[in-house]
Amino acid sequence: MNIVLMGPPGAGKGTQAEVMARNLFVPHISTGDIFRANIKAGTELGRLANQYISKGDLVPDEVTMAMIKDRLAEEDCAKGFILDGLPRTIGQADALAEILAEQGKKLDFVVNIDVPIEKLIERLSGRRVCRNCSQTYHMVNNPPVEAGVCDECGGELYQRADDSEETIKNRLDVYLAQSAPLIEYYQDKGVLFSINGDQAINKVLTDVGRGLGQNW
Ligand code: ADP
Ligand code: ADP
Ligand code: ZN
Repeated sequence: MNIVLMGPPGAGKGTQAEVMARNLFVPHISTGDIFRANIKAGTELGRLANQYISKGDLVPDEVTMAMIKDRLAEEDCAKGFILDGLPRTIGQADALAEILAEQGKKLDFVVNIDVPIEKLIERLSGRRVCRNCSQTYHMVNNPPVEAGVCDECGGELYQRADDSEETIKNRLDVYLAQSAPLIEYYQDKGVLFSINGDQAINKVLTDVGRGLGQNW
């Protein structure tokens, strides 16, 4: 199953994608995670991407699409994938369709996680991420058993630099201007379903499953 997960920053894409990937036996491909891994490793791509990410702007389409083209060509994507965080512009959506067509594939579902903008600031500012395995927590909504420590791997939790209030505001503006039009784009293609993301994490997961025809 080839799936795109969409929604504003903080909607819960990463949280849902983790569990969905485990249930569907397909890779969870987070463009944000790939960029952050490159920043950490000090690669050329990481240095370039960080100039945009640190301000909450989008990494240019050419850079992002070259990266994702390579990732989708990897063998683990043969049976499907969950794309989390891409496309974020109409240009990326068109380019993605071309890449998939070249590989003889298409998108089966685009899942839009809908959360009111005013709730996102609280979600993003309380977010903590594992330095080691990227597992995501929330200080209030989804805390780890032991404060500051990842339940999965014992790694140290940190706050992303772009989850500061200043950068969050820009990211939400960027979402509204550049990414929100994708909802209509995929609606017109007949592959989109929207779910209410302003509910408990497990309830959101059940609703996503129902849309995908999965009873999990
Ligand atoms: P995204 O990948 O869309 O930016 P995340 O999955 O990282 O979103 O979630 C953003 C923050 O909100 C995290 O701290 C996460 O633990 C929390 N969160 C995710 N889903 C929910 C939910 N349904 N209710 C409350 N908090 C949530
Ligand atoms: P969030 O989970 O809050 O939505 P991500 O981890 O998906 O954030 O992305 C973090 C940052 O990485 C974005 O603010 C943007 O700068 C960059 N980024 C991620 N995906 C893309 C993309 N498809 N196109 C351009 N930039 C991207
Ligand atoms: Zn961890």
